[in-house]
Amino acid sequence: MGCQEEESEEYLFKIVLIGDSAVGKSNLLSRFARNEFDNNSKTTIGVEFQTQVVEIDGKEVKAQIWDTAGQERFRAVTSAYYRGAVGALVVYDITRKSSFDSVQRWLDELSIHCDNSVARMLVGNKCDLENIRDVSVEEGKSLAEEGGLFFIETSALDSTNVQSAFEIVIQEIYNNLS
Ligand code: GDP
Ligand code: MG
Repeated sequence: MGCQEEESEEYLFKIVLIGDSAVGKSNLLSRFARNEFDNNSKTTIGVEFQTQVVEIDGKEVKAQIWDTAGQERFRAVTSAYYRGAVGALVVYDITRKSSFDSVQRWLDELSIHCDNSVARMLVGNKCDLENIRDVSVEEGKSLAEEGGLFFIETSALDSTNVQSAFEIVIQEIYNNLS
């Protein structure tokens, strides 16, 4: 293993998850990194990240995905959280309009802390809850278009598009390198 590491280039991309409390950030990460879902919304303790290895163009890319420790409830995500990020998933809950209305504030905060070149994906999560949808696909799309973000709807519960959401961002970061 050591030999292989010496031969290949190393890519490490820091990606942050942002968005209102309870939109499903932690579950998106656990679904992506461990294929797990947790119904109990237990508060994460301490800043956490998980590293996931993805192969792009035959190269090994390490995606280091950061999850908040629940401090978004107090609007107090620290600059350390954003430092060095090259990608961001801005998450809202399609059943909760207020979380969609907060997206602009999260984007503003991101732009204060990160370079404009950061790859950004707008994520409408909980798309399994179609019967209680409160934000249309069109609303999501047009907000993303205005801000120049990618857009996707996901379900951490039934796994819809979770892999794609992360992989599109990782691919975009990779493309931005060259
Ligand atoms: P966070 O505060 O943004 O990290 O949100 P969590 O990941 O803790 O999720 C908040 C709540 O929403 C929990 O009760 C989860 O079980 C639930 N949840 C998260 N993702 C989904 C989803 O895709 N569909 C549904 N139905 N519930 C979800
Ligand atoms: Mg969380």
